[in-house]
Amino acid sequence: MFAPAKLRLDDVSMTFKTPGGVFPALAPVTLAITQGRFVSLIGPSGCGKSTLFNVIAGLLEPSGGRVVIDGVDATGMIGRVGYMLQKDLLLPWRTVLDNVILGMEIQGVPLPAARDRALPLLRRYGLAGFEHLYPSALSGGMRQRAALLRTLMFDTDVILLDEPFGALDAQTKLQMQEWLLQLWSDFSKTVVFVTHDIEEAIYLSDEVNVMATRPGRIVETIPVTIARPRPRSVTLSPEFIAIKERCLELLTAGHHSFIDEAA
Ligand code: ADP
Ligand code: MG
Repeated sequence: MFAPAKLRLDDVSMTFKTPGGVFPALAPVTLAITQGRFVSLIGPSGCGKSTLFNVIAGLLEPSGGRVVIDGVDATGMIGRVGYMLQKDLLLPWRTVLDNVILGMEIQGVPLPAARDRALPLLRRYGLAGFEHLYPSALSGGMRQRAALLRTLMFDTDVILLDEPFGALDAQTKLQMQEWLLQLWSDFSKTVVFVTHDIEEAIYLSDEVNVMATRPGRIVETIPVTIARPRPRSVTLSPEFIAIKERCLELLTAGHHSFIDEAA
């Protein structure tokens, strides 16, 4: 028996009207993700990853197709998924704690209750001692932890993370990946993760979806069946390398067609 999808995209398309004409940002995209899976999207800049997230989060009404969550049409509905935007900014005038409770506050949880819920999480997940500081006092990695915890505290099963570690140095990024996997297994969330980093996508995911551009679309869904927990050295295994090569092949193919088009 197939488990019903937690999140399903049925032929989601997006066309932007621009002064230069109609721009097809997303060709019909179809995807089904079961509860608790960690799924990545990779693809060249401008292939519509953030647009797809905006559609899933209900911030953008798609030109066609449907977003279905738990079997129910959720197209254009906000608040059904937790969403960490690519340019996620913590509010500089709020402490780390009060940034993390923002989602709960919006959902109507009284402040003291929200703080009581958030404090143990901040302490358990690497922000002990930072609760009452302002974001400007934190390192890049710490800020991303706070932003991610804030996203997680939205009471939703699905979370969308748009290049959360894109601006971090290599060492911090590896630490954040382990940290995120810990959270993912503790909270049993369904995660959709956008990254530019192929190794990051494979290492973290149960499935990598490779996208191409003009129009944005998924060209291949690659399952990653490597057992968890995954040691870091897994990146050197034949299975991992084979997946990486396939991703590169697909991304390079997209690159060629882009050059042909521009020529
Ligand atoms: P990605 O996140 O994969 O880099 P985006 O989803 O941000 O790509 O953008 C996909 C394409 O759609 C880009 O070419 C971008 O310029 C275009 N685009 C995004 N938002 C708009 C908009 N509101 N109006 C017009 N074009 C847009
Ligand atoms: Mg983007």
